[in-house]
Amino acid sequence: MADQFFAEIILPLALPGTFTYEISPADLPYLKIGQRVSVPFGTNKLYTGIVYSIHQNKPELFKTKEIDTILDSEPLVTQIQIKFWEWMADYYMSSLGEVYRNAFPTALKWESETFVKFIGTINKIEEKLSEEEWMVVNALDKKGILAVSEVAKIVERKFAIKVIKSLWEKGILQLDEVLKEKYTPKVELFVKVIPDLKTNEKLFNQSIDKLKNAPKQRETLLQLIVEEAQNPKPIKISAYLKKYGGNHSLFRSLEEKGLVEIYNLEISRIQKVEQDIIDSEQLNLEQNQALRSIEEFFQNDKSVLLHGVTSSGKTEIYIKLIEQFIEEDKTTLFLLPEISLSSQMVQRIRKHFGDKVGIYHSKFNQNERVELWEKTLNDDYKIVLGPRSALFLPFQNLGLVIVDEEHETVYKQTDFKPFFHARDMALVLANFFKAKVILGSATPSLESYHNAQTGKYGYVELTKRFTEVKMPKIELVDLRTAMRTKEITGDISHSLRDAMEETIREKKQVLIFQNRRGFAPVMECLSCGHSPFCPNCDVPLTFHKFSNSLRCHYCGHSQARPYKCSNCQSQELTTKGIGTEQIEVQLQWLFPKLKIARMDIDAMRRKNAYEKTLEAFEEQEIDILVGTQMIAKGLDFSNVGLVGVIRADSMLNFPDFRAHEKAFQLLTQVAGRAGRRNEQGKVLIQTFNPDHEVLQNVTRYDYEKTARDILYERKSFYYPPYLRLIRITFRHAKKDRLDKVSEEFVKLLKPQFDEKYLLGPEEPSIGRIRNLFIKNVLIKIPENASPQKVKNLISKAIESLHTVKAFRSVRIEIDVDPQ
Ligand code: ADP
Ligand code: ZN
Ligand code: ZN
Repeated sequence: MADQFFAEIILPLALPGTFTYEISPADLPYLKIGQRVSVPFGTNKLYTGIVYSIHQNKPELFKTKEIDTILDSEPLVTQIQIKFWEWMADYYMSSLGEVYRNAFPTALKWESETFVKFIGTINKIEEKLSEEEWMVVNALDKKGILAVSEVAKIVERKFAIKVIKSLWEKGILQLDEVLKEKYTPKVELFVKVIPDLKTNEKLFNQSIDKLKNAPKQRETLLQLIVEEAQNPKPIKISAYLKKYGGNHSLFRSLEEKGLVEIYNLEISRIQKVEQDIIDSEQLNLEQNQALRSIEEFFQNDKSVLLHGVTSSGKTEIYIKLIEQFIEEDKTTLFLLPEISLSSQMVQRIRKHFGDKVGIYHSKFNQNERVELWEKTLNDDYKIVLGPRSALFLPFQNLGLVIVDEEHETVYKQTDFKPFFHARDMALVLANFFKAKVILGSATPSLESYHNAQTGKYGYVELTKRFTEVKMPKIELVDLRTAMRTKEITGDISHSLRDAMEETIREKKQVLIFQNRRGFAPVMECLSCGHSPFCPNCDVPLTFHKFSNSLRCHYCGHSQARPYKCSNCQSQELTTKGIGTEQIEVQLQWLFPKLKIARMDIDAMRRKNAYEKTLEAFEEQEIDILVGTQMIAKGLDFSNVGLVGVIRADSMLNFPDFRAHEKAFQLLTQVAGRAGRRNEQGKVLIQTFNPDHEVLQNVTRYDYEKTARDILYERKSFYYPPYLRLIRITFRHAKKDRLDKVSEEFVKLLKPQFDEKYLLGPEEPSIGRIRNLFIKNVLIKIPENASPQKVKNLISKAIESLHTVKAFRSVRIEIDVDPQ
């Protein structure tokens, strides 16, 4: 049959390659690459796949099935996206299906196991439905929730996904996603004076007269008029009351008299109100030079590393660049490490570009994700702002990619495959579009810095804060001396305590950083030294005082706090190490009158807790904020006079070749939170190792020396950026089988590698998590070797392991460029 056509389909599976299906002659004229189709798979599964290619090569070895239905009239996936997915799959040793599964919105990707639920009312919709749709709606009405596979039993299998899709589009059913906590817009009360009062003098005089006997109300009304005249912006009642005192009833009374209007605004709408689009700033000399060199590098098709200290004005430069690309009608992808709707960056970008900005929020529900996908496909946005997953949107005409805070480790996906690094993939994606890339950071990753040093990237520096405020003064507090001279209470040295007191006296706020949550990481028996460990993992349990429990931070296991040692029954238990909860308690004890709050994952579990704490801090309702690295990232507070670091040592001693790099970045970032706007701030870092080179460099803001020192070590010991790493992780419940597999693996590779390039099998510092034992093998790709060849060797070795039946149950995970 010469005119039989086949399609290669991408399915959301961990299997390699694409899958071949027959195309019925009726479908053939309508089938396009990038469309969604529903297809049967195995004996009774249904999937939504993407058309990869169309051809006439009949597979010899197996019998093909036919595509069930075409789900779209136009492609939802662009050709560039498919190329990008393939590239990523190859590079990260994932399957194309795994990339598709990660890249494509769940709500557009129905499969047998997808559950749908009914959200309409049955009588109103009857007439609009086809017979098949009606059958499904009826069943849903009875049962509430159905799996796609059950729908396939109700209607002809072939049409199951199509029917679901059409009901979904009509808003009759919904994906039964495990509901992510939805973003609930924050509502605030605002007040405004009725306009007539400000223009009609007679009315004004009458009104003031009427308020003769209510002096408080009169005063408030006049004050409101003054406020509005000075700053034409909605007046938030809570802020007003804070500034001038009084209470809500004042406003209510004025409202009853028809003099003011009280109204609600969602935060997002407020942004609109404040947002008469504002022009970008005039750049200063240093910024202008930076912009000029960036443009020059772009002209020579070079990506640029923009290395600028915090508050040097990088963002203003981004804004200028975005404007230029809009002129050329090109889109900018702006990647941020984390994104929350209240993020200052989002607001700034919106202020300049209004509706042209699409925001990809990680808390978005499925419908919102689909909308963003469709609008990007339509080329409706000129800027898309988002976290690493925003890379997967169907861009049409990408001109510029900005990766802000490019050194951030959250750019690496570590929770599911593919384990990609968004900064690296941004460069790949940009290349497909011939788009320009700018990586920005105050503390660039050594990979990017090395690329800049060797001329692969253009390098542009901003060395001064825009406002010319000096960088905060960083001092080290020697804990050894403090201990010896007893100048320490709990874990707070007297130097830190005094500095806090002084800061508070000056009506400024304090941030205290401790990179560990909970109360104490270890509980220990004073008689026998025993510590309670997690039953599922090889880690001691962390003591959480506020919930009076012991918890594992790796698997979530939780148990009541013991009062007796389980080993010797002694009741003398003590705690070792310090977490944020303990610091909070100590500070409360030291400063009983001050308002102290804590920001870490435990404290932020409640809904909107994060936004609320930030706002309370910004409004200066909190004097001291204690936190983990959550407080270090990208927050721009206006009134922080002092930043204290409780212990820098654990960061430096972490068993990881990147420990020093990360410690420098984190400490510099934390320090950057102090005194940003008008006055120089102060930073105190407590440590047992004040002579440590990294700490010394931090106090001098000496990025270059830090980079030079670390790069020298990396080179000597064969680590990135001088060569690439691939880590292979083996996991199994039985230790002996794990040992055997991992050793066998190394044996297979040994003949091909010099021993300095093949390390392990090694037990990681935590050798068991969730009841699975763990072994790692680290492969370094030699400088002159082809990465593809190394990857092939690894794949072959794994294939050969899989020929042994007992080995197949061992989980093997490959991480290219592990963090
Ligand atoms: P970075 O992104 O490097 O941390 P920002 O762009 O946030 O720095 O700049 C720091 C502060 O200086 C911001 O409040 C910003 O509005 C202001 N700023 C920067 N450049 C200019 C400029 N050219 N004109 C006016 N204000 C500026
Ligand atoms: Zn004991
Ligand atoms: Zn555990």
